Amino acid sequence: MNYMKCQHCTEYSALKSEYLTFCDHCGKKFPVIYKDWLAHHPDGNLDAFGLENGISGEEYAALERRKERKAHFTPRKKATLAFGIICFVAVLGLSFLYGPYLMAFFREPRVSPTLLHADQWRTFKGHLIRIQTPLSLRPESPDDRPNMRKKAFQAGGRAEGIVIRMEESVFLAQASVVLEEAAQLTAREMETRPGVSRFSYTSRELQVDGQPALLQQGTYVLQETSPVAFQSLVFVKGGSQVQLLVTHSADDPAGKQAADKIMTSIHMN
Ligand SMILES: [Zn+2]
Repeated sequence: MNYMKCQHCTEYSALKSEYLTFCDHCGKKFPVIYKDWLAHHPDGNLDAFGLENGISGEEYAALERRKERKAHFTPRKKATLAFGIICFVAVLGLSFLYGPYLMAFFREPRVSPTLLHADQWRTFKGHLIRIQTPLSLRPESPDDRPNMRKKAFQAGGRAEGIVIRMEESVFLAQASVVLEEAAQLTAREMETRPGVSRFSYTSRELQVDGQPALLQQGTYVLQETSPVAFQSLVFVKGGSQVQLLVTHSADDPAGKQAADKIMTSIHMN
């Protein structure tokens, strides 16, 4: 069956019989009706008339399907889709603009090669030892306990990619501190800090200006995500002990270079 399109309301009416004269929807008369057409087409039939002046059943079905899909696509759905597209474009734009910054933010901090330049290095003098350092160590408020005075100095952080820390303890009730015990305790302290896991190290004895010291070199993982390398040197004298601790990202060659340079710069006062 074919369908006739109304010129007034644009709706289609089924060409059910040769008598179709008025639109099924608005009641207006069709401009061409079969009887008039047949007068000029003596060999014609209803099907030929329908195809010439209207559309086929298949075309009509396709139009109906399209109409139905449009009806399902409500303004609410349109708004949701538009919002989705806007969000997608915004995220895409932001990642183009801030991508490098975000990558730098999530990447492990690294030591800048300029930090290794010798003219930036200075001497830091503690109670027992002095070192060469690329960053100024600042004192933290003293952590005094009964029978112990503890002073800490620290430099660096996330921005620098390296942390340099000197911790001096004076045991007021002890005439002497055993180097091995002191080194084990400082390692244990590092291992039990919050967020530290997979802590491992090797230890070796070395001499600082002829005096024995213990150097611990190892790695741990911070907050399950950041591999950290550390070098910790422990030195004792009488009832005093000092720990020099340098930490940096485990896979940062510049950090390792800086740490090695600090560690080999140690001298007794
Ligand atoms: Zn109509």
